[in-house]
This record gives sequence, C-alpha cells and structure tokens, in this order.
Amino acid sequence: MTEENGTLRKRGIRISRNESVLDAIRSGIPHWIHETVDDASYIGGKKYLRECTCSECGFKVSFERQYCPHCGVKMVKF
Ligand SMILES: [Zn+2]
Repeated sequence: MTEENGTLRKRGIRISRNESVLDAIRSGIPHWIHETVDDASYIGGKKYLRECTCSECGFKVSFERQYCPHCGVKMVKF
C-alpha cells in the first residue's frame, strides 16, 4: 500500500495558471523562457515555440536543455 494524496510541494515555488512566467523570473528561478506566437488552434490561443531563452543570461537555444550551455545554470521545469 502506498500513500498518494496527489499533493506535490514545490519548495516555496508557487506557479499557478493565473501567474505569468514573469513572476517566476522575479522569484529568480532559472528556467527557459519560451517564445510564443498567437495561434487560435492552441489551448490558451498561444503556440509555444521550441526555441527558448535562458532566464539568467539571455542565451537563446533551439531546444530545452537541462543546463544552459552559456552560463551553466541548472534549469527548473515547471
Ligand atoms: Zn544562461
């Protein structure tokens, strides 16, 4: 028997659908910032591009990696 209550605690990180990624940037959490284009056929009306930018140094990569190849920061997945 395992106990699963479905509650995952993310150490002090609160990201809800209503909070923008900008809040995460303000919190200083390293992550990839995906560029979006408006596309009504996607949920939320936005299509997330594969390309993303390091929130720490602004380095742009063509796909998400675990570490930024430029500044070496470890990324947090939301
Ligand atoms: Zn970086």
